Amino acid sequence: MKITEYDISNPYTATVKNTERITPAETAEVRHITLSIPDATFHYVEGQSIGVLAPPPKTFGNPHHLRLYSIASSRGGEKGELSEIAICVRRCFYIDPINGERYPGVASNYLCNRKPGDNINITGPYGRQFHAPKDNNCNLLMIGVGTGIAPFRAFIKHIFDERREWKGKIRLFYGARTGLDLLYMNKEKDDFSLYYDEDTFKAFEALSKRPHLDDDPEIEGKLMDNALEVWDLMQDPDTHVYIAGLSSLERTLDRIFTALAGSEKAWADKKDELIKQHRWSTLFYD
Ligand SMILES: Cc1cc2nc3c(=O)[nH]c(=O)nc-3n(C[C@H](O)[C@H](O)[C@H](O)COP(=O)(O)OP(=O)(O)OC[C@H]3O[C@@H](n4cnc5c(N)ncnc54)[C@H](O)[C@@H]3O)c2cc1C
Repeated sequence: MKITEYDISNPYTATVKNTERITPAETAEVRHITLSIPDATFHYVEGQSIGVLAPPPKTFGNPHHLRLYSIASSRGGEKGELSEIAICVRRCFYIDPINGERYPGVASNYLCNRKPGDNINITGPYGRQFHAPKDNNCNLLMIGVGTGIAPFRAFIKHIFDERREWKGKIRLFYGARTGLDLLYMNKEKDDFSLYYDEDTFKAFEALSKRPHLDDDPEIEGKLMDNALEVWDLMQDPDTHVYIAGLSSLERTLDRIFTALAGSEKAWADKKDELIKQHRWSTLFYD
């Protein structure tokens, strides 16, 4: 089995099974899209992404517009169906800095506009994985912002539904601009509540204090509110840390953990130890 089974020259044609808006109409659109992949030969694990080949805009020379999307299903498939895989896509727009015009992001709009029955060319799977430690007593500290929640949806489903009887603590810190933007934790779709009864699981929502300003979510405040537990967990040699979201999150977390560690050097040493011991897994994107 090759690591990347399908590539640009040999994509797999998936079919949209279902597409569901998982944020309310009054906020940014994010869709949970389920793809049917009945005869795909790839295997993926939590934390990996698939590539989507969208038709490129005619004005650009590049024949392919490939963008990556984290797989939101665990390795057992969406809702336990191996022939289905889900992704979570934010419909992106950007402002041209020269003329100030608003342009739709190519792949995200292509995906959000697809209807059930439409075909989509995909590649992959790609990327590093969120490995759950073999020992069920290990603690898992998870930090995700925005669509960075997608791999944690997969990971937590894997831990509780496929691994079962997890004994270590699981702490999920999740940042969004507003309660409406909380993915998989709002009134439209509430997957994580399935696990609220698990003794070991706690989820912390971190909402922006100034949502109208497009601020970073309050992940900093939420981690600081729980500083004692978070820092205690980080000292435990049985704790594994997983982080996913836009790359600006990395700087924010370095600042927070420097404050918790007491100095830049103390945090650099701690991070180095976590990386060397394979207890620090990140998935950052722009
Ligand atoms: C490993 C990896 C995993 C990813 N997982 C996901 C995922 O699960 N869900 C998801 O929606 N995206 C994810 N992305 C981002 C995705 O690949 C695209 O970059 C994004 O959808 C924009 O592509 P586009 O073709 O629509 O926009 P383009 O036509 O390429 O235009 C890009 C513009 O859109 C804006 N933009 C891009 N990404 C974002 C974002 N996430 N939030 C706000 N503004 C943005 C920027 O201003 C940028 O200038 C991931 C990226 C990587 C590298």
